[in-house]
Amino acid sequence: MGAGTLHAALDAIVTLDGLQALLQALHRRGFRIVGPTVRDQAIVYDDIDSIGDLPRGWTDDQDGGHYRLTQRGDEALFGYAVGPESWKRFLHPPLLRLWRAERDADTTSVVPDSPSAERLAFLGVRACELHAITIQDRVFLDGQYRDPHYHARREGAFIVAVNCGKAGGTCFCVSMNSGPKVEQGFDLALTELIGESQHAFLIEAGSDTGRAVLDEVPHRAATQDEIKAAKAVIDRTAVSMGREMRSDDVRELLLRNLEHPRWDDVASRCLSCANCTMVCPTCFCTTVEDTTDLTGDHAERWRRWDSCFTMDFSYIHGGSVRPSARSRYRQWMTHKLATWIDQFGTSGCVGCGRCITWCPVGIDITEEVRAIRASPVITEGIEDLLREHPFVRGLDENVVVLIAGCAKNVMFQANEYIFREGSAADHFYLIRHGTVALEMFVPGRGPFTFLTVKSGEILGADWLIPPYRSSFDARAVELTRAIAFDGKCLREKCELDHHVGYEMMKRFIPPLVGRLQMARLQCLEIHDDGKLQR
Ligand code: SF4
Ligand code: SF4
Repeated sequence: MGAGTLHAALDAIVTLDGLQALLQALHRRGFRIVGPTVRDQAIVYDDIDSIGDLPRGWTDDQDGGHYRLTQRGDEALFGYAVGPESWKRFLHPPLLRLWRAERDADTTSVVPDSPSAERLAFLGVRACELHAITIQDRVFLDGQYRDPHYHARREGAFIVAVNCGKAGGTCFCVSMNSGPKVEQGFDLALTELIGESQHAFLIEAGSDTGRAVLDEVPHRAATQDEIKAAKAVIDRTAVSMGREMRSDDVRELLLRNLEHPRWDDVASRCLSCANCTMVCPTCFCTTVEDTTDLTGDHAERWRRWDSCFTMDFSYIHGGSVRPSARSRYRQWMTHKLATWIDQFGTSGCVGCGRCITWCPVGIDITEEVRAIRASPVITEGIEDLLREHPFVRGLDENVVVLIAGCAKNVMFQANEYIFREGSAADHFYLIRHGTVALEMFVPGRGPFTFLTVKSGEILGADWLIPPYRSSFDARAVELTRAIAFDGKCLREKCELDHHVGYEMMKRFIPPLVGRLQMARLQCLEIHDDGKLQR
């Protein structure tokens, strides 16, 4: 055995002493090594000085809302699945100062914080976590705006990956094609081999830097038996996943079921605590906070992790866009599994299972998908619903069938916004049951309700007039059920068949004229009293 003999081109074997030598080689190169260690009864990522800091002999027992460390009965260093922390804590820190400002008698100076110059080496990165890092790379580096802080930390990072030798009770990386074997994006990859005759690691180099570091570490060529044993470790892990989730059609499944009653069911359990977003290795949302001292001479701006589960996250003038737990959970899950694909080209979930383990009430993303899949919302019957609404009274049957192709059944919780002023007016609604307040924002006073729309009435006309932007807010006052029409779809049908267009106009013009008259009367009230009336 000798350092540098294989140039790390082939699978090699390092012993425990070799692993210690690897840490020393990284330290010599100036890396701060971060890896798994036991703290607060969990396996967390922290500074690693020697292999003595690793969680030797520990494993994790995980299930929905459940995490316990137990002894494995052997000396494995990487014999656990994943803990509550992910590498985003180091690449995209939870709290980061962006700039500080100082003021003296004559000047005010703003000093941006420089990106970190620290060189990080991550030890023990799992396949799902490597996928998560790649996903965050797309978010922070590939778009129009590159995050300089993420870029500095990521660019110099050295990654020692570890193939999983044990699947956690909540893992489902096989379903997401993100594990358990690391495929790319690493400098070195280890597979831990524990047998009666040896405790060693099969090591593979994935980059020139990885090869150069391995050349400084004592190693020998792996035998065919050792290569087979390493493959068996990964194969065993792959067939022992704690969870599974069919993912090939999950985008379409969720987007077709935005009004599924399961969203109400999960909302009745969800505490909106935001744990799932904090532990998720791909969630990236932040907010900024400005602080100042009592003198007003010193101010700072900090960036900190935020969550789509908080009310403030979607607050715009007058209220939150997603006021209910139902709307927030649906936003999170459909973004992770569906619209993330539209936005970034991949799923936002790597199947690490953290959101299941660390949810205090054990909400399980795989179970939620399974429940929706088991009873998808029946879309047939929309024509029957349409026929019950006064809007279609007297409409030819063939026109009802034609416009039904642009319609879907929807439901809004009390206080949920159906659309906001300035948002795309891509739908109009036939209210079946419920009440909707039409509101405008009055500076200094807040939201002002200028009209309410009730069962049997039409909501929204801006879909007819370019630039198709909503000119007011519409908020469900109580649980409201409606038929939503895709405005673009209907406009196209009206263009193709002017008879359909004429029938639509006949039904839209009378209520619009009625509302215009009402607005005229409200104007008179305003001028009589000299102030707005509710
Ligand atoms: S959504 Fe859950 S399982 Fe998927 S990557 Fe995030 S924490 Fe892991
Ligand atoms: S799903 Fe669970 S972890 Fe996520 S916000 Fe709801 S209660 Fe908290």
